[in-house]
Amino acid sequence: MSATRPAARTSLVIALDGASGSGKSSTSRAVAIRLGLRYLDTGAMYRALTWWLLRQGVDVHDPAAVAARCGEPEIVSGTDPTAPTIVVDGIDVGTEIRTDKVNAAVSPVSAVPEVRARLLELQRAVIGQGGIVVEGRDIGSVVWPQAEVKVFLSADPSARAERRAAETGSIDVAGTQESLLARDRLDSGRATAPLTRVDGAVHIDTTPYTLDEVVEQVVALVGAGPA
Ligand code: C5P
Repeated sequence: MSATRPAARTSLVIALDGASGSGKSSTSRAVAIRLGLRYLDTGAMYRALTWWLLRQGVDVHDPAAVAARCGEPEIVSGTDPTAPTIVVDGIDVGTEIRTDKVNAAVSPVSAVPEVRARLLELQRAVIGQGGIVVEGRDIGSVVWPQAEVKVFLSADPSARAERRAAETGSIDVAGTQESLLARDRLDSGRATAPLTRVDGAVHIDTTPYTLDEVVEQVVALVGAGPA
């Protein structure tokens, strides 16, 4: 067991919610590594299901069609923060789920209640084993409201677009920003489990901070929180 792994905190759950490009993924992974915890990227699960539906030729804008098929694929999340994986029916789709096609389809798919119910069950099964940092949109509000630490990350749209474009190697920062804001509108406006900051979540606007500085702030919250 590593020196950084807190033996007394094996049940610790850290919920990190926020919009795309807010620094959620990098922060969550770094915090998990620092504290010797597992890591779950729930966005990757929505993306993986979306990838599978597109591959099956399902109309992602038809909620009934999506609901009818969303229980079919097997989706397995690997929770090692140094090398997280997402596997659908035995296929590692870590790269495929980050395409523009999936970006454009994931919000309508995520708005379908049957999709959320299915993935909620998978997410709770993973989180229930404890000792994990979970990132998403509705972790503190719906998936695991009892999380010991809840954080809501935000950042200015231009900072988010620049980070996301740098991650994907895109030179089209304006187009990236447009796509992020379109997803924000859909994710925040949907009826089921919208992106929202819950009471009890600590809000960190990451715009002026480096990744290391944000990680420090989250780790400090763990120290301050209930054991
Ligand atoms: O975090 P990421 O940008 O990869 O998430 C992709 C999409 O998955 C979001 O735009 C949202 O539609 C959906 N999502 C969600 N609930 C979560 C995580 C992601 O609806 N907990």
